[in-house]
Amino acid sequence: MQVQAKMYLAEEKKYAGGTKEVVLRAVTRGPENKSWCSATPNGTLSLSISNPPAADYFDVDDESDYLITIEKVRRYVYDDGHGFETDGEGSCRLCSVNEAAHPGTDAYKKLHPEG
Ligand SMILES: [Zn+2]
Repeated sequence: MQVQAKMYLAEEKKYAGGTKEVVLRAVTRGPENKSWCSATPNGTLSLSISNPPAADYFDVDDESDYLITIEKVRRYVYDDGHGFETDGEGSCRLCSVNEAAHPGTDAYKKLHPEG
């Protein structure tokens, strides 16, 4: 499942060093936004963006609205049964635990021969 919100760019501030701060608010005006407004009558999303292409994507002068898609992703924790996935530097990219301490790896089995 995903949840979507339609928002407009209410404010943008540019800072030295290229960081941009944007404030988006839920759309409320106009017949085209009536159904959005009844589902989400109020809402604010504030972002501080330092990636230049992403910062440039938000432009208060281009009169665009923004469709925000929200999708849950699983948060992995140590010992929840997930498999080790290397980050290329000896740790698990999902939970940050190092290979020897991560259940299910060969290195872990050597240290814990009883199981
Ligand atoms: Zn892990």
